[in-house]
Amino acid sequence: MEKLTKQQSDKIKRINVKLIERFDIPYRAEIPPSPLDMLIATILSQNTNDKNSYQAYIKLREAFPDWRKILDTPREEIEDIIRIAGLGKQKSAAIKNLISFINENYDEMSLDFVKDFDDRRLLDTLTALPGIGLKTASCVLLFALERDVCPVDTHVHRTLNRLGLVKTSSPDKTFLAINGNFPQGIAHSLHTNLIRLGRAICKPQNPACGVCPLLRMCKYENKVTSNKSEYSENGFMLLDNVRQ
Ligand code: SF4
Repeated sequence: MEKLTKQQSDKIKRINVKLIERFDIPYRAEIPPSPLDMLIATILSQNTNDKNSYQAYIKLREAFPDWRKILDTPREEIEDIIRIAGLGKQKSAAIKNLISFINENYDEMSLDFVKDFDDRRLLDTLTALPGIGLKTASCVLLFALERDVCPVDTHVHRTLNRLGLVKTSSPDKTFLAINGNFPQGIAHSLHTNLIRLGRAICKPQNPACGVCPLLRMCKYENKVTSNKSEYSENGFMLLDNVRQ
């Protein structure tokens, strides 16, 4: 992972302050979920909104208080339970594969043994699991293990490129460009508030630069300052609401 320059680090801190002024300090779960619970929640969250993936997670947890039971459950049955999250076939297969892999390769149905690993080893271990990419693994580091790591989804990637902090061609490249020495104590608020910014203001098309709190520090050449139509959303974030 690349190290941020002092200039980049200072800019990240300024962005964080501006976003907190605009969106507030985001809610964070007092008791973080286990790494395995977080992985399953993150699989459910792909390509859907947080409310639907939350409902799917609650239903799945109710059906399987012990994840081991998934081993004996037909994939179709899991697909049915998580239907509300969409992509049921792929997500049920991914969850079943993950649980089978852990069952075959580790002594217990848990990933708690990774808790003491350093960030690099954690990412290597988690991305070696079937179907787990850098984004999902980094969500475990931030949300379950409270590391100073900022996951990068499409919103974080787009906004950081427009702001001129990085010049990268994919979310994974952005992740590697900023996480070598991410500033301490701000990864959760920055990650969450950049997603809010990306959903509500810095939209893929026609960004509402006219109401953006980062307008003065933004390097995007195609700003739309005439657009002041901010999309309002309730700010509910699945990964801060995963419970065991
Ligand atoms: S000024 Fe416009 S392009 Fe820049 S971050 Fe804000 S909304 Fe996005």
